Amino acid sequence: AYHVVDKYTFDNYVVGPSNELVYKVCLEVAQNPGTAFNPLFIYGGVGLGKTHLLHAIGNLAASKGYKVAYTSANDFSDEMVKFLKADNIEAFREKYTNLDILLLDDIQFLAGKERTQVELFRISEKMMAQDKQIVLVSDRHPKDLKDIPDRLISRFESGLVLQVGLDDKTKLSIIRQKLALMGLPIDEKVVNYIFENTGYNVREIEGAIKTLKVVGVEKTLQSAKEKRNVDLDFVVSFVAKSFGLKPSELLKDSREKKIQNARQVSMYLAKKVINCSYVEISRYFGKKDHTTAIYAVKKVEERMRTDRKFNYMVSFLEKSLLEAIR
Ligand code: ADP
Ligand code: MG
Repeated sequence: AYHVVDKYTFDNYVVGPSNELVYKVCLEVAQNPGTAFNPLFIYGGVGLGKTHLLHAIGNLAASKGYKVAYTSANDFSDEMVKFLKADNIEAFREKYTNLDILLLDDIQFLAGKERTQVELFRISEKMMAQDKQIVLVSDRHPKDLKDIPDRLISRFESGLVLQVGLDDKTKLSIIRQKLALMGLPIDEKVVNYIFENTGYNVREIEGAIKTLKVVGVEKTLQSAKEKRNVDLDFVVSFVAKSFGLKPSELLKDSREKKIQNARQVSMYLAKKVINCSYVEISRYFGKKDHTTAIYAVKKVEERMRTDRKFNYMVSFLEKSLLEAIR
């Protein structure tokens, strides 16, 4: 029987542009298995919710009375070996062919497991002949799977192949959902902090939010701000040195061209190299209005397009700064 993993459902899966299609297809498969999309092959990077979707299918389909099994390629293989050693491979085949839905996770690990591949091929053949649903998950497209025979690959590809991804909009919604689930404030500052300090990986986002909860929101944001200031100090000293100026001179509002220039280049590099927000940069330079930094960055970009020498100088600074930070 399917072991319900109730923390993974369709209800708590956040949908956005990069996973909407895959979500809808999974929902359809859970409600009407074996009809339209068979086999269904889902692939994508780590922490993008592939396992979550498999269990969401399993939970919903099991609640409707379908016979469902979830397993990973590794577990499937280990199980097969056990049956084989017990001289009972028929029971193994029967167990799987009797299902309505087989959910098979991380099938990239089928690589090189020849006997498992043979058994899976047989099982899938029987299941498909009876319009039983198979859903496969992998970290890569079927074509990129290693050490898996062509006939199995083309079986995987014979239904619908879909990729799951993560875009900015969905990432923001997920951050908001996870903050709410952890009982944390859904404050823009907090959302931005998590957004900027995580990649495109929901597991990483969950980890960052857990850490935020343990360390405390105030403390985390405060130390992030302090770190920003240390980074900004570095950028400003770096630029000041290249212009033959003192860092303190860059922080003053001066009409002197050279100083103005160095100030704007610093703001530009703070944006490009350390990814500071316009608000942070403007504040650092003593301005309440964030348009100060926007204006400076735009100015530098414009001049880089028209003035080759200036372009060369700024590009060189950008490169050296990147190296110095690493
Ligand atoms: P994968 O199998 O692709 O590596 P998982 O399904 O294990 O990723 O997801 C990692 C974590 O992120 C899980 O806790 C899962 O619930 C969560 N997660 C992933 N995508 C979403 C989403 N779209 N909405 C809500 N939670 C998600
Ligand atoms: Mg997974």
